[in-house]
Amino acid sequence: MPDIQSVEESLLARVQATPETGRAIPDAATRETIGYAPEHAVADVAAAVARAKAAQPAWEELGHEARAQSLLEVADAVDAHAEALARLLSREQGKPLDGPNARFEVGACATWLRAAATITLETEILIEDGTDHAELTYRAIGVVAAIGPWNWPLMIAIWQIAPALRMGNTVVVKPSEYTPLSVLALVDVLNAVLPPDVLVPIVSSDREVGARLAAHGDIGKVMFTGSTVTGRRIVEASGANLARLTLELGGNDAGIVLPDADPETIAEGLFWGAFINTGQTCAALKRLYVHESIYDEVIDALAAVAERMPMGYGLDEGNVLGPLQNSKQFDIVKRLVDDAKDRGGRVVIGGEPVPELGPNFFAATIIADLGDGVALVDEEQFGPVLPVIKYANIEDAIASANGLDAGLGASVWSSDRAVARAVAARLRAGTVWINAHGAVHPNIPFGGVKNSGYGLEFGVEGLKAVAEPRVVAG
Ligand code: NAD
Repeated sequence: MPDIQSVEESLLARVQATPETGRAIPDAATRETIGYAPEHAVADVAAAVARAKAAQPAWEELGHEARAQSLLEVADAVDAHAEALARLLSREQGKPLDGPNARFEVGACATWLRAAATITLETEILIEDGTDHAELTYRAIGVVAAIGPWNWPLMIAIWQIAPALRMGNTVVVKPSEYTPLSVLALVDVLNAVLPPDVLVPIVSSDREVGARLAAHGDIGKVMFTGSTVTGRRIVEASGANLARLTLELGGNDAGIVLPDADPETIAEGLFWGAFINTGQTCAALKRLYVHESIYDEVIDALAAVAERMPMGYGLDEGNVLGPLQNSKQFDIVKRLVDDAKDRGGRVVIGGEPVPELGPNFFAATIIADLGDGVALVDEEQFGPVLPVIKYANIEDAIASANGLDAGLGASVWSSDRAVARAVAARLRAGTVWINAHGAVHPNIPFGGVKNSGYGLEFGVEGLKAVAEPRVVAG
């Protein structure tokens, strides 16, 4: 049996370009080149869409059972390459193998593929009274564009690809320019099972390629996960092709800790809610409101968890926190932390880069004694930093949580679920978790409100999102 490193190298060799034709992709931690991403130009978009369009009717014709079977086989193929994919992902994205990181992400790919294969979207009988009959069915849309970010590049690609394929669409996948190699490797593993051109990658560092893909006349649906700024551009582009859109955009999730919560019990959940993937997660806990009666205890318990979480190179076993994926994100995090310190924030732990680990490492940071109106609270930090805000009155905490334009997730922490649910019911977010944050499940719909986007992924709702509804009446 070949060792894992040679499986990884052969995956990379199959998908990468030469140094002459490709773009060097750095290891997120060391900045050493790990491979060369092929580059496509705007002119290549039409050819990629044409291939997917030509393959679509036969894929749809196969029927649900055969497509579901294909997805199950694809999931097995992902499992068979899991460690090699996780290693490549770890180097390119920066997330460690261990913890809720690279191995977890590849495992989630297989889980979501299997879920997309097994969930069914039934025909809805709307009227059946002996005389009249009306039913709602769902069929494929055609060609779906899957445009993804760099933070969870494999998992999010699968979230977009798997339901789209299940419903009989073909897909053109456009990975982030920061993490193309791991997505290409994943697509290569999928394509060893799928018929040709059912899944077509298009890779580029040129954002214009993504824009052209979203606006292409033969794209019937855009599944987009990324920033709110880019999401707006995609909405504008859809004015031309009237493509259906699912927009999973940025978040600035609030957590509210009620006075009856037990700090020691919730500390680890709070930590991973905020620091999963070193904070580079859309639905991470990004601002924490804690009742004044347990404010100090919660901060101490959180800091104690943070202190024992090893940060370092992703391939070194035992590390659970890694670098920021790129220097642009590192600069954002540093700017927000420096500003929070200037504005009176108290650094409980961290607060500084860790250059001895590599250029893009920033220590896990908890900053207390901040209030709304400080950039670290109001803006999405997308890094290993959690601002903690003291509140006295629950009405103020709810108003603060609802006070921003973002509405992806939120959480309420309490020893009494009924009390927590009553607060949850007042929070305006796509998902409100109780005593957890960011936990997603393939059968539970997930999506944002307000500037965090619209449309749902996962479960039956996720299948509907990549399907065209058709009513037959009479
Ligand atoms: P981004 O918007 O910069 O890029 C996302 C993708 O869009 C990339 O593939 C990029 O090449 C492409 N793109 C850029 N301009 C485009 C255009 N005009 N038309 C079409 N495509 C274009 O986002 P990012 O920096 O890669 O990701 C980070 C952001 O994504 C954060 O705000 C984060 O919260 C958000 N995010 C949201 C979710 C979610 O589920 N809601 C999940 C992960 C990340």
